[in-house]
Amino acid sequence: MRAQIIELLAERGLTLEDVGNLVLQLQQKYNNGLSLNDCTKAVYEVLSKREVQYALFTGIALDILAEKKMLPEPLQQIVETDEPLYGVDEIMALGITNVYGSIGLTNFGFLDKQKVGVLARLDKEEKLREKVHTFLDDLLAGLAAAAAAKLAHSKVAEGNILSNGTELPAVKS
Ligand code: MG
Repeated sequence: MRAQIIELLAERGLTLEDVGNLVLQLQQKYNNGLSLNDCTKAVYEVLSKREVQYALFTGIALDILAEKKMLPEPLQQIVETDEPLYGVDEIMALGITNVYGSIGLTNFGFLDKQKVGVLARLDKEEKLREKVHTFLDDLLAGLAAAAAAKLAHSKVAEGNILSNGTELPAVKS
């Protein structure tokens, strides 16, 4: 199923590296040695989770149906115009973000506000009315936030950084 998701993202013009780049922007300040490859790998791993796959399939299907004007009203209008008060797109993304606990939540909030990297590109495509990305932008932010949380957790497990990003001095043996 993960391969199908990757294919679907490609059809929407996205690579895992695009999402990896968002993760890198989130985690870089806490983890100097982190590479784009590490981040992309974390995204790939998050995509193995069934709840993540289901959220992506559902949200992207709704975006595509809205592009084809196939949703029943009032949903067609709401999704097509990315109605700011709708909020179901964000709720769905939080389902992804929460997979690795609450660190993901802060990351998601940051990406949602900043619209960096691929999120800026989606936003532009939507403004030009070329595509509908009402769900996809939030889902990608959720995915990147979850992957960043996953990396943060594994760094914590190594024992040299606190969950808020503070580095601990190396333990002398
Ligand atoms: Mg949205």
